[in-house]
Amino acid sequence: MDFRVDPEFQEKLDWMNRFVREEVEDLDLLFPDGGAPYDKKNATSQAILEPLRDQVKAKGLFACHLDPSLGGKGYGQLKLALMNEIIGRASWAPTVFGCAAPDTGNAEILALYGTPEQKQRFLQPLLDGEIVSTFAMTEPQAGADPKEFICKAWREGDEWVIDGEKWYASNAVYASFFIVMAVTNPENPPHERMSMLVVPAETPGIIIKRNVAGMNEPEDQGIHGYIRFDHVRVPLDAMLGKPGEGFKVAQSRLGGGRIHHAMRVVGQCSRALEMMLERAVSRRTQGRQLGDHQFVKGMIADSAIELEQYRLLVLKTAWMIDNLPHGAARTHIGMCKVAMAKVYQDIAGRAVHLYGALGTTHETPLAKMWMGAPMLAVADGPTEVHQIQVANALLKTATPAPGLFPSEHIPTKREKARAKYAHILDAATARPKE
Ligand SMILES: Cc1cc2nc3c(=O)[nH]c(=O)nc-3n(C[C@H](O)[C@H](O)[C@H](O)COP(=O)(O)OP(=O)(O)OC[C@H]3O[C@@H](n4cnc5c(N)ncnc54)[C@H](O)[C@@H]3O)c2cc1C
Repeated sequence: MDFRVDPEFQEKLDWMNRFVREEVEDLDLLFPDGGAPYDKKNATSQAILEPLRDQVKAKGLFACHLDPSLGGKGYGQLKLALMNEIIGRASWAPTVFGCAAPDTGNAEILALYGTPEQKQRFLQPLLDGEIVSTFAMTEPQAGADPKEFICKAWREGDEWVIDGEKWYASNAVYASFFIVMAVTNPENPPHERMSMLVVPAETPGIIIKRNVAGMNEPEDQGIHGYIRFDHVRVPLDAMLGKPGEGFKVAQSRLGGGRIHHAMRVVGQCSRALEMMLERAVSRRTQGRQLGDHQFVKGMIADSAIELEQYRLLVLKTAWMIDNLPHGAARTHIGMCKVAMAKVYQDIAGRAVHLYGALGTTHETPLAKMWMGAPMLAVADGPTEVHQIQVANALLKTATPAPGLFPSEHIPTKREKARAKYAHILDAATARPKE
């Protein structure tokens, strides 16, 4: 495995690194609200955003995650991972580089299942960064297990009628359209009951009951919609895929997204580690610099080691996606998802602590990072669900012990080794001692 890139691409990464630190981080400072990158109506932020986007486009680095047929570059997951490590430094960077969630996944769904008219109306402006979208799957009573969903849609004449509630649909307040999962075939087996529908935001009957704020957002500035679909009517061709194919369609939106998120977390953790190092050589206690105390050295070393381990896991996974048959990296993708929140929580937590009271304020990026960790452990499925998948995949490769004792039972193995070399061992025993 080789994680190096060609010199030409390395130049692009070097440019991105400078650009994100020197230009994009300004947007985080000027417009820090969680929803700010998605608010197309804020003329001031858009006036700063657009010229930055133009620079990204001129460098050929905009929306690179897309399939080449949609204007992507076909870089492959390893290069995309290295790009996302840099993008992870700033909250605005995914918007500046045209790869913000959930628009990325929604674009994949529309590209695969949309009609030519839907592609023109929703997909193209989404790819151009002119609009944002929402993915509405989770419901107030169930999230991790979609088989518990009850929001339904039924056919009336030449329309689908959607009725029910959705919860924690990110960016709903700014979205031009929603992709909604609804039960359409309750009589089918569990994984074939739901379908996916595209719904324009202005359709009558869509009620955003609340914009819920995550713990790292001010309570009155939530961006995750609690939505009621009250007999919302859409034409028959609003269905993406066939009736009952909702799960299949949902799978298609994941693509490399999990790896990209994982590398963004690597970028955040690198930033936290850089901050720890600066603090350790800048502040004194008990007559010495913080970095001269053994506890602090331990915190720094543990953080660097965990970060390096996690970074290599993600890069290996990206390499596997690029080089092995389709599906071979599935378990590793699950491992990246499981480890992500833990590594983030550990490293950001140590950095917050090393910064003392300052670390607990909003005057450094650390508090927001630390509060992001529990959200990462739940978003896109809770840790346990992915742990179970990883374990199940590994268990499938295991075979039961051949006999009463495990295959690593030392007396049993020793007996076999003795039998194998009996002719030598017996001869040695029979030889008279000198
Ligand atoms: C930042 C963020 C953004 C999100 N964005 C969106 C979005 O845009 N659109 C959308 O539809 N949803 C979104 N969600 C919702 C997310 O998909 C759900 O929160 C997630 O699937 C878990 O569902 P839940 O919250 O209902 O938790 P539950 O399903 O109620 O699970 C709660 C807890 O139960 C335990 N648990 C659950 N299942 C198992 C199991 N099989 N085995 C063992 N333990 C289990 C775990 O500890 C889990 O944390 C977002 C969530 C977050 C935090």
